[in-house]
Amino acid sequence: MWNNKMKAFTLSYDDGITQDIRFVELLNRYGLKATFNLNSGIQTKANSWVNKDGIVVRRMNMDGLKELYAGHEIAVHSLTHPDLTKFDEETVYNELARDKANLEAFFGTKITGMAYPFGTHNEQVRAVAKKVGLHYARTVHSTNHFELPADLLQLPATCHHGAENLMDLAKQFAEAKPDMPQLFYVWGHSYEFDFDQSWERIEEFFRYISGREDIFYGTNAEVLEPFYTEG
Ligand SMILES: [Zn+2]
Repeated sequence: MWNNKMKAFTLSYDDGITQDIRFVELLNRYGLKATFNLNSGIQTKANSWVNKDGIVVRRMNMDGLKELYAGHEIAVHSLTHPDLTKFDEETVYNELARDKANLEAFFGTKITGMAYPFGTHNEQVRAVAKKVGLHYARTVHSTNHFELPADLLQLPATCHHGAENLMDLAKQFAEAKPDMPQLFYVWGHSYEFDFDQSWERIEEFFRYISGREDIFYGTNAEVLEPFYTEG
């Protein structure tokens, strides 16, 4: 796995918003791979909100997304972005199965993962995720380490991209020479780079972590597939 490398790096971004255009351009420039978690039931530009500083966060229309996200992974984020823990099983099933089916039909790929909207989940939500054929589901929990996840349906990240210790973790990871597989997993929303004017900060991080021979750069699925369980 991982082309015989002991270290892998992956990214996970949510909601399919316009700032992803600039973000994907950065990823592609540095040869990095990410997973984009989309809500197919509300993936239109009619869905927008404005933050306290007047910055617009707008979902994109589906048109053109296949081209934009080419080379990256598309994953489920539920049909309409609710807190799934508030629903009965049938509604959770509908939210996950229909999003998966819509995205598979549109992108022409098999989808194997998801990110929980708001990061919330419970036993029922995890069971439904498994039932609809999803192998991993990301939470919003940060571990601040590079150990492999114990439970792919409660997948934590190493950190959010805004973490103060992002560059410290990057240096730690870059310098490590592990005997066991290690994973550096970063998540966020690309509109946050507009909110806190951190486009240069993320580029500096990408410049540092990219292009290393001992790191495998893959989407979430490419990195996690060796650990998928049957069924
Ligand atoms: Zn979201």
